[in-house]
Amino acid sequence: MRLASYSHNSEASYGVVLADRILDLPRAARISGLVMPPPDLASFIAAGDMARDTADVLVAGHPAEAILDLADVRFIAPIPRPSKNIFCIGRNYVDHIKERQADQAIAVKLPEAPQIFTKAPTTVIGPDDTFGLDSTLTAALDYEVELAVIIGTTGRNISRAAALSHVFGYSIGNDITARDLQKRHEQWFKGKSLDRSCPFGPLIVTADEVPDYRQFELSLTVNGEERQRAFASQMIFDVPEIIATLSAGMTLEAGDIILTGTPSGVGAGFNPPRFLKAGDEVVCTISSIGRLATRIVAA
Ligand code: MG
Repeated sequence: MRLASYSHNSEASYGVVLADRILDLPRAARISGLVMPPPDLASFIAAGDMARDTADVLVAGHPAEAILDLADVRFIAPIPRPSKNIFCIGRNYVDHIKERQADQAIAVKLPEAPQIFTKAPTTVIGPDDTFGLDSTLTAALDYEVELAVIIGTTGRNISRAAALSHVFGYSIGNDITARDLQKRHEQWFKGKSLDRSCPFGPLIVTADEVPDYRQFELSLTVNGEERQRAFASQMIFDVPEIIATLSAGMTLEAGDIILTGTPSGVGAGFNPPRFLKAGDEVVCTISSIGRLATRIVAA
């Protein structure tokens, strides 16, 4: 199932993407006289199997009035305001660690455990939104395409073996980073949490439609020029390891979002660096999920 949040005639809703149309789930349930599904996609995810069963019934048979053309809606982030910070994994692809190393002659030292930081809920924006670049604040704005994992089943101390059964689905994230702030404050949080610095979407592909997440191919372009390309299989710490590590002694809840790290090709990895400037368009793509575009504008 491909689930998206969107606005239509200035009203927010969510539904199931069916080729070039979308089935508005709350509207379909209301017209069909079914129990109303939760009001937004985050609460739909938290509602678990009951909500999914209702959605399955409505996909199989629904009133025509609940169908909208994709051209008539504007996608917003699947979860526009997460209830907590977005979990992020740093330095999770070997080539990316190598390109960020000051001395290219020495061997790459890999992390021994996943490096974990977070982005504030206020960072989330949707597809085709803008990021306002304040050049008095940062002179080193960078991009990072990442596979986003959305937790579906709340859990604590989740084993590697059980980890993927806790995944609701997959999406795309862009971990926009102010490299100078990331470095200046040592802890990464400030440089990673500027407002609107987490483009997220365009939709969530549910885990049952993903035979093997490692086959997702991530890529990113700036103004049409390819900068990043890799497979999710190249992660140092895979998704089961990330979930097992995060959930050890800390509850992961339905609707939590995890960005799983970025491959090589970030702006800071070039010599000289190629940071973002006003007017740039950054497009993240993941095979079989979709495309997430962000325009950088002067703030
Ligand atoms: Mg990142």
